[in-house]
Amino acid sequence: MRILLVEDDPTLSNQVRQALEEADYAVDLAVDGRDAQYRGETEPFDAAILDLGLPLVDGITVLKGWRAHGIRFPVLILTARDTWHEKVAGIDAGADDYLGKPFHMEELLARVRALIRRASGNASSVLACGTVRLDTRSGRVSVDGESIVLTSHEFKVLSYLMHHQGEIVSRSTLTEHIYAQDFDRDSNTIEVFVGRLRKKIPSELIETVRGLGYRMSGAP
Ligand code: CA
Repeated sequence: MRILLVEDDPTLSNQVRQALEEADYAVDLAVDGRDAQYRGETEPFDAAILDLGLPLVDGITVLKGWRAHGIRFPVLILTARDTWHEKVAGIDAGADDYLGKPFHMEELLARVRALIRRASGNASSVLACGTVRLDTRSGRVSVDGESIVLTSHEFKVLSYLMHHQGEIVSRSTLTEHIYAQDFDRDSNTIEVFVGRLRKKIPSELIETVRGLGYRMSGAP
C-alpha cells in the first residue's frame, strides 16, 4: 500500500514517514501544495495524508483539485488545531477523515488502516482468504491459525492482493503500490515475491492470469 504524505514540517514528516514505513507502507513525501497536486494526479496512491497549511498551494485547494480531477483515493487531513471550521472545510472539499495536531502516531496509523480498508470494501480489520488471515492492526499473517513470517516485500504484495481479492492485479500495478517513486523499481522482482509467497501460503490462493497478472481468491 502506497501513501502520499503531504507535510511541510520536516520534523513531523520524518516522524510520520518513519512510522508508516515501519508499518510496511511505501511513502512518497510532498512538501508543498503544488508538488502534492501534481503527484496526486499522476501517481496511484492508496491513501493520502494531507496537511492543510502548506507553501504555494493550501491543502483545501489541493484536495478540491484532486477531487475535480476524479482522484478518489481516501484522504486524511491534518488540521493545525482542532478547529471545527477547518474540519468542515476539509470534509466539504472531499476529505474522508481528519486528525487534529498534535496527534498520537498510533491513532494516525489506525485511521489510515481504516481508510484503506474501507476504500477497498473490507469491513473487518482482519482480512481472510481461504485459510490465510491478515490482521491489518498487528501486521500478523497466519495460515490455518499458525503465524507465518514474511519479509517486508512479501507482506506488501500479500496485503495488496488481499485488499483486492477477486480482482486481477497486474505486475505493474503491484510494483506501483509497493514502492515509493524514488525507489529503484524492478517489476521482475514481483514474480520472485509471489513465488516466495506461494511457498508460505496455500499456492492455489494466488492464481496467475496469463498476460494480465495475479488474482487472489479463496473461492474453490
Ligand atoms: Ca503545515
